[in-house]
Amino acid sequence: MNNIKFIQIPEVCPICGKPVSVVKENDSEVLMCMNAGCKGKLLGELNAFVGKKAHDINGLSEATLQLLIDTGLVASPIDLYYLKDHSTELSRLPRMGAKKIANILDSIESSRNTTIEKFIVGLNIPLIGGRAAKDIARYEEIRTRESGMLYPFETFIKDAASDFNFTCIEGLGTERNISIHRYFKENYDYVIALAEQFIFSKLNNDKISSENDSLSGKKFCITGKLHIFANRDELVADIESKGGKVVSGVTKATDYLITNDKNSGSSKNKKASELNIPIISEEEYKNKLN
Ligand SMILES: [Zn+2]
Repeated sequence: MNNIKFIQIPEVCPICGKPVSVVKENDSEVLMCMNAGCKGKLLGELNAFVGKKAHDINGLSEATLQLLIDTGLVASPIDLYYLKDHSTELSRLPRMGAKKIANILDSIESSRNTTIEKFIVGLNIPLIGGRAAKDIARYEEIRTRESGMLYPFETFIKDAASDFNFTCIEGLGTERNISIHRYFKENYDYVIALAEQFIFSKLNNDKISSENDSLSGKKFCITGKLHIFANRDELVADIESKGGKVVSGVTKATDYLITNDKNSGSSKNKKASELNIPIISEEEYKNKLN
């Protein structure tokens, strides 16, 4: 009875001394250092940062990245964007010919043109992978359009640094919401400094000119799984090509809620019923409104 041992859970990372957090991953709890600049996870961070789904930088294998860390040339993903000022040091490294260096530096420079989705993946926020980044990006694009701002990444940073509740995005639960806010609390300055390295695409507010403007001025909110359109992007594109607008939440100004599960009891369904906003299925959207 007396031999229950309490395991002391460390409050700070043994490597960088910054706070650690318990993050729920599937059904297990994992202790994670939240500091994006932690040396203990730098190689993993850099590897993810240069990966295809993030900034897709060529020529930086794990061995090359380790070399850059060991020589002190790179201590954070931001340092990659200053490697161009260190070509002499680079040329002294083993197996680094002039051509290889030029290719790496070129690839780093082209990665400056980026999207909010790649940016989010590159941040390496615990629990936020490619799928979640895509969902967040799409949502923040809509919010950016609604608020008349120009850059979805700015809307995202503002939301992540405030108490915005990301669980209103489908597929994002409480754990992911907490993880985003913890990450931003710990790494806000890093995120801002990193964002300065990039040229983000502006939101395309120009009306896509089309001969069909049957949905002109109509506002649609979409919720739940789709089965006629391949994915939400396609439905959004269809609505916008006919002059309609897609909004992130149901308000008095919303004209239709599109959902295939009218009885799901979701907050959007309830809101639409309360406000007497027509709730229509994908079929009804296709057949009646087009
Ligand atoms: Zn650490």
